[in-house]
Amino acid sequence: MTNKNSTFCTHNDDSRNRDMKIGIIGLGNMGSGMAATLASKQEKVFGYDLSEKALEAIKPKGVTPVADLAELVAHCDVIILSLPKAEHVKQICLGNNGIASFAKSGLILIDTTTSEAETSREVAKQLALSGIEFIDAPVSGGPAGAASGTMSMVIGGDKETIDNVMPILQKISSVQVHIGDVGAGNIAKIANNLLCAAHLITNAEVISLANKAGVDPAKVLEGINAGSGRSGVSQVNFPKWILNNAYDSGFTMGLMRKDVGLGEKLADSLDLAMPLTRQVIEMWRDQSNLSDTDDFNEIVKESDSHLY
Ligand code: NAD
Repeated sequence: MTNKNSTFCTHNDDSRNRDMKIGIIGLGNMGSGMAATLASKQEKVFGYDLSEKALEAIKPKGVTPVADLAELVAHCDVIILSLPKAEHVKQICLGNNGIASFAKSGLILIDTTTSEAETSREVAKQLALSGIEFIDAPVSGGPAGAASGTMSMVIGGDKETIDNVMPILQKISSVQVHIGDVGAGNIAKIANNLLCAAHLITNAEVISLANKAGVDPAKVLEGINAGSGRSGVSQVNFPKWILNNAYDSGFTMGLMRKDVGLGEKLADSLDLAMPLTRQVIEMWRDQSNLSDTDDFNEIVKESDSHLY
């Protein structure tokens, strides 16, 4: 399907992608939303998940569930991965009866998992031996962004491959940033999530501080969002999920703990001290009151405040 000599390189013309059949592996909080978004835009979409419940739930959204990986690969030109961790990506791609074993030349994989650069590079290299292309395209925006096609993506991979699937990327996301070669998207995503992890804790502390000094939390937040201290956390997380006590973002403590762990692994591999960031990582890891299934915003409850 991909043609290395092709001059196709547009972000708006989706004629080349009109007939592409798309598969999604991992129909959880994010993958189910992406699949439904594509199906709502008249794409032929197939879905695969280990969970029977997830396969059943996707049917009313216009997505065709398939029973196994072999069937999915046979049907599809492009496959989007939305799996929990790097190890799942590696197993689906290179494991026994994984995607590599079907050797479907021309297939393109878009991995939206928050994964590891090393895994992405290894998987891309092995798949290339069978003519399969791979890009890492981790996402931000949560389940609401996936369900509305408004996520943002940081992408690592070959420019021509990215251009070939750009019409698909644009249906599931509103912002696409090409960071660099395969793995670069994963590194950018880890950097982003380390900041998000830190901002949740620092915002919780300063909003509590202001509250104890006699200021209404909603008002101090309004002030922060009008000033230089604002961030995605102050603009989205606090009003949408924290100050209203909702804690229903669809992103779990377990997945954020995984992401800060990836940040720590990367810092270790580069021999970087990062003293403040490591303190943040410890706080995420050691919160005994919070389980992996809790909403990740609940980290604010561990600050020294009775506000949350
Ligand atoms: P999730 O746990 O809700 O969904 C993962 C799905 O993958 C599950 O349905 C599971 O059954 C399926 N799965 C696991 N192993 C499989 C396998 N071998 N074959 C087929 N299916 C398999 O997770 P999520 O919240 O959708 O997150 C997916 C990825 O996106 C993670 O890497 C996460 O860090 C990242 N992410 C999540 C959010 C969010 O807000 N939830 C936001 C940005 C990025």
